[in-house]
Amino acid sequence: MTNVYIISAPSGSGKSTLVNELRKIVPGLDFSISYTTRPRRGSEQNGREYFFVSRQQFDEMVRERMFLENAEVFGKCYGTAKRFLEQAQKSGNDLLLDIDVQGAAQIKKKFPQAVSIFVLPPNRQTLEWRLRNRGLDAEDVVQRRLITASREIENYDKYDYILINDRLEDSVEALKAIVLAERLQRSGKTLSADEAKNPQIAEQYKLRNVRERVKPILASFVTTPVSGGE
Ligand code: ADP
Ligand code: 5GP
Repeated sequence: MTNVYIISAPSGSGKSTLVNELRKIVPGLDFSISYTTRPRRGSEQNGREYFFVSRQQFDEMVRERMFLENAEVFGKCYGTAKRFLEQAQKSGNDLLLDIDVQGAAQIKKKFPQAVSIFVLPPNRQTLEWRLRNRGLDAEDVVQRRLITASREIENYDKYDYILINDRLEDSVEALKAIVLAERLQRSGKTLSADEAKNPQIAEQYKLRNVRERVKPILASFVTTPVSGGE
């Protein structure tokens, strides 16, 4: 059976970096390439990071019921095509979805068994620094992303696992352990001593075990200035 993993995070938290690293080290994990109406950024290529489509094309896909979920984020449309799940099911792989909180809620409703992971930055200042350093967005966009981030992170408690992306190597290991732990547990097979380490590591990142660690992160976002337009 195909396991569906959802990964969400405020923009700039390091989700793309983590997903790319994870895909290198975990076999049998397909990645869904979303459709979006937003323009290409930096070195992005059509069909690699996203399928870049017009609003008309997107609306047509919605009408044709081609999406598993779709949502509007930052005023642009994003959607997960059903065919990625079908392909994963056919090839016996798991599927990883990099989608926002609205999409995650839609998927969880359709597939309660889906595993959801929320990536948090260590604090607001680090997020701001990473957004600027990434060099993809103009300053007004960085500010808008920070305001949106404070709203998005309030949804952290709707997720199964919370990953605070501080040291990259630790986060990649944690993400790998979560994916493998869920895969192994659902396979029903007896775990070897080595495999049994994954559920132990993953357990540390379950929502119930991170609440105290998340508090100061949420507090660091409370100082976000409120924009008149938002
Ligand atoms: P997202 O996909 O969540 O928008 P990115 O993966 O593009 O975020 O990461 C934002 C920036 O932060 C990038 O420049 C990336 O190299 C950097 N970054 C990601 N994870 C870490 C980390 N653990 N420590 C330091 N920098 C990081
Ligand atoms: P970005 O434009 O920075 O790549 O992504 C903006 C946001 O859209 C991120 O939170 C990302 O997870 C989300 N996103 C990307 N693809 C999809 C999708 O197919 N569906 C939904 N709901 N959100 C998506």
